[in-house]
Amino acid sequence: MDKNFLLHTTTAQELYHQHAAKMPIFDYHCHIPPNEIADDKKYDNITQIWLYGDHYKWRAMRTNGIDERFITGDASDWEKFEKWAETVPNTLRNPLFHWTHLELKRFFGIDKILSPKTAREIWDECNAKLQTPEYSARNIIRMANVHTICTTDDPVDSLEYHRQIKQSGFEVKVLPAWRPDKAMAVEHTSAFNNYVDKLSEVAGTTIKSFSEFMEVLASRHQFFHENSCRLSDHGLETFYAEDYTENEVRDIFEKVRAGYDLDAFEISKFKSAMLYEFGVMDHSRGWTQQYHIGALRNNNSRLFKKLGPDIGFDSIGDFEVARPLSKFLDKLDQSNQLAQTILYNLNPCDNEVLATMIGNFQDGTVPGKMQFGSGWWFLDQKDGMEKQINALSNLGLLSRFVGMLTDSRSFLSYIRHEYFRRILCNLIGDDVENGEIPNDMELLSKMVEDICFNNAKAYFKFD
Ligand SMILES: [Zn+2]
Repeated sequence: MDKNFLLHTTTAQELYHQHAAKMPIFDYHCHIPPNEIADDKKYDNITQIWLYGDHYKWRAMRTNGIDERFITGDASDWEKFEKWAETVPNTLRNPLFHWTHLELKRFFGIDKILSPKTAREIWDECNAKLQTPEYSARNIIRMANVHTICTTDDPVDSLEYHRQIKQSGFEVKVLPAWRPDKAMAVEHTSAFNNYVDKLSEVAGTTIKSFSEFMEVLASRHQFFHENSCRLSDHGLETFYAEDYTENEVRDIFEKVRAGYDLDAFEISKFKSAMLYEFGVMDHSRGWTQQYHIGALRNNNSRLFKKLGPDIGFDSIGDFEVARPLSKFLDKLDQSNQLAQTILYNLNPCDNEVLATMIGNFQDGTVPGKMQFGSGWWFLDQKDGMEKQINALSNLGLLSRFVGMLTDSRSFLSYIRHEYFRRILCNLIGDDVENGEIPNDMELLSKMVEDICFNNAKAYFKFD
């Protein structure tokens, strides 16, 4: 992992070092807690910043035979770090191995392999640095040359931390993103009802009907807009595009509000209505909408009951995608209400499905209006990113791609942009050396700089 890590040709090296590496980071989707930026949080130790919320590492530790006590349990931070250090040598060929060492190198200047042998010295060195002001949340963001961050926020969120960050004059743009998944989750009757009650409370009203529910959501959407939000995000198994009538949706809402469980058809109709309405809202305010599709979540019910969601028991699903996606996008497009859209798949079988679907709705209004998003979650690794880049190149315009994002909960994950940029430059370098694309540095460097930063900056119109 030296200077030319992943860069196998001189063209790739030139593209990366002279062009990609100097571009700022436009991280338009992540899960960083905004309060930690508002408070400019300091971390006591490397476990807090590395292992507290990272289900990628937790999965690897479990696979390595580590007891849950050292993963999500009550072991001390040092014990948890020690168990991670014990796991790292066994992560060879998993992206965690590269991420771990790139993070140690770029942020802490540590060039050693993490293992039981080096665990103590690396722990001491990282923690000593974390005690200094240079390693506060904001300074880590600065160290990584970040230009813009979009967090992920629920419609009930007050966005107070985003306002605090803005008022503090922090030079990096930290914007909210609208993620209304809970407003669609009618399959969980009591959780949905609690959520509607929470929405009522935030809006200072009592939601008694479906139309009031939609009015409150629309006012929250406006509130997000006033707080500089220009981006939504949805986590879905797949797209929902059932036919429904207003009366049906109203009745379904009343049924679930009365505490009755809905059947599968009712759930699908309700989700279809909500997804469409959210799309219309996004279009009306000129936002971009993102859809993350294809996760089969909470597969291990025993550990779900014990530990809850988002802790490493999700995997790739195989839902029908093309037909409902086509119907959903077409319905919005028919009335010319299709917002700028980014589609991310978790199942690599859907790469070409998405890469071709976006072509159906490019309408010449803006370059790359419809985007096939970067390799996500299980596909956010070398092979997954290469496949995404190749599918997009073969079936669309790679040059119009808005590029990489961290999708991370950790402030050290900005190295994922570096990882992506090296892989991108390497693919282009290979093509040049194979004589498949011209060795025209002006053309190639523009493409690389655009994908790394310029395209995203122009596309999202956050300014
Ligand atoms: Zn995400």
